[in-house]
Amino acid sequence: AKADGRGGYRFFEPAMDAIARERATLEADLREAIEHEQLLIDYQPLVGIESGRVEGFEALVRWQHPTRGLIMPTDFVPVAEDSGLIVDLGEWVLRRACTDAARWNPPLRLSVNLSPAQFGYADVCETVARALADSGLPPQRLELEVTEGVFIHDAKRGIAILERIRATGVQIAMDDFGTGYSSLSYFRQFPFDKVKIDRSFIKDMLHNSHARSIVEAIISLGRGLNLQIVAEGVETAEQLAQLQGCSQVQGYYLSPPLPIGQFAGSVLVNPQT
Ligand code: C2E
Ligand code: CA
Ligand code: CA
Ligand code: CA
Repeated sequence: AKADGRGGYRFFEPAMDAIARERATLEADLREAIEHEQLLIDYQPLVGIESGRVEGFEALVRWQHPTRGLIMPTDFVPVAEDSGLIVDLGEWVLRRACTDAARWNPPLRLSVNLSPAQFGYADVCETVARALADSGLPPQRLELEVTEGVFIHDAKRGIAILERIRATGVQIAMDDFGTGYSSLSYFRQFPFDKVKIDRSFIKDMLHNSHARSIVEAIISLGRGLNLQIVAEGVETAEQLAQLQGCSQVQGYYLSPPLPIGQFAGSVLVNPQT
């Protein structure tokens, strides 16, 4: 099957037919969704180990599809990345999340995921700057989460863009650390502010001594490099007890991702204005 460049397909191998058609439909629907506000954002708290309080929220996009119901990002972000729709999707998330966060009281931090694909297309730095300026959110309250994918296709370009963004006061976190190639040289090439230990290690930590040693090694690496360390996917009190060397923790044990209104009166005074 071959894309005609407009999101349609002009030729099908019989075996590819169903899959290609499904993907083309999803892509067309997603285009609609971005235009017609079918996307929404849930927020998951990041809790400080020392403060014991919610210090920020990670924005996680969802798609309220008119007929298929709620679709999770793992089922549509890859489609957006392959089609280039990630540029509009990413900009929508960034603008909406910054607008939300600008109203939070107390003024907690906001984390937004950036796809490596966004670095290949439009000027992400410009998109970030505009979202901050239009929302009034100070750059110091924004943190962008990137994966090592940013370094894989064009490391120089990825680093240059991240440096420009970081120079404006926005912090940069390395997401999903420990998966993929996870080279330590990334930390020599770019001054990350934070590292998020992938949840697969947290999941295995209690019954697998190798996973536990890796978590401990990342925590001490973070100390040596002056990086904040976040453990994601914390689901139990036992896991939390083992993660006291981290800066922050995130996971279902603390709170699942929820619509921001759910934090009204507990974490935020008045999140919705
Ligand atoms: P991620 O950035 O690693 O986000 C963490 C994922 O782990 C979220 O899944 C979250 O709901 C889930 N999670 C949090 N705590 C726990 C836990 O205790 N246990 C388990 N099993 N899972 C937990 P979600 O929301 O389905 O997002 C999946 C991925 O989709 C994200 O992984 C991120 O890579 C991507 N994504 C989400 N929103 C965006 C976005 O706005 N832009 C981009 N580019 N990617 C996004
Ligand atoms: Ca993330
Ligand atoms: Ca992650
Ligand atoms: Ca992930």
